[in-house]
Amino acid sequence: MKKNVIITIDGPAGAGKTTVAKEVAKRLGLLYLDTGAMYRAMTLKALNEKIRVEDEKKLIDVSNETNLSVMKDEQKGMRIWLDGKEVTDEIRTEEVTNNIWWVCKVKDVREKMKNMQRQVGSNGGIVVEGRDIGTVVFPDAPYKFYLDASIDERAKRRWLEQTNKGIESSDIEKLKQDIEKRDKSDMEREIAPLKKAEDAINVDTTGLTIEQVIEKVISIVNQNAT
Ligand code: C5P
Repeated sequence: MKKNVIITIDGPAGAGKTTVAKEVAKRLGLLYLDTGAMYRAMTLKALNEKIRVEDEKKLIDVSNETNLSVMKDEQKGMRIWLDGKEVTDEIRTEEVTNNIWWVCKVKDVREKMKNMQRQVGSNGGIVVEGRDIGTVVFPDAPYKFYLDASIDERAKRRWLEQTNKGIESSDIEKLKQDIEKRDKSDMEREIAPLKKAEDAINVDTTGLTIEQVIEKVISIVNQNAT
């Protein structure tokens, strides 16, 4: 594996992208970039500014005045800063999740995020996670993965994740509906929709443990090391 390698991990909600991408980065000594966190931070800014998320023009104006930065923390992993304030935990609210769709569909906002993501990954040595990374942001990356799992399994994982965090979860059926709705809007978005890059390796994680998925990704990267 070259030191300046770029590994992309895309897929729908609850497929295990975050846990896998973080751990693969850690074990291979690479940086980790969570691009969803960038869209979340932009959405948080729009909500804080109390702008109507339906107003594309306002969203673009706001994004042009926004200063986003990501930093690596040895202990905690990737941290994200919005206009000089760390918002890594704040961006995980339901309100942000419920409004993010409006922000993610705006072409100029996506363009800005894409440029920033390319900038962060310009020296390589990075695992980048998102929805359009292998298709749009780093289409020439040598290692591309598309993680997926059955909807039942993904809803179950989300439920467990929330329960473990002490968050009172909705029932699994409701989580399932939320995930399906999010996937549908991500896949049907006009710009940079969620889809598997033609040359991405599909990994169906249904029935696999996180450890098995991590090992699978790492073994593919090592096998094809150039
Ligand atoms: O990964 P996470 O669930 O935090 O992403 C939140 C939302 O951000 C996704 O549902 C998706 O709509 C959007 N997103 C995107 N493009 C990316 C990463 C995330 O549109 N590269």
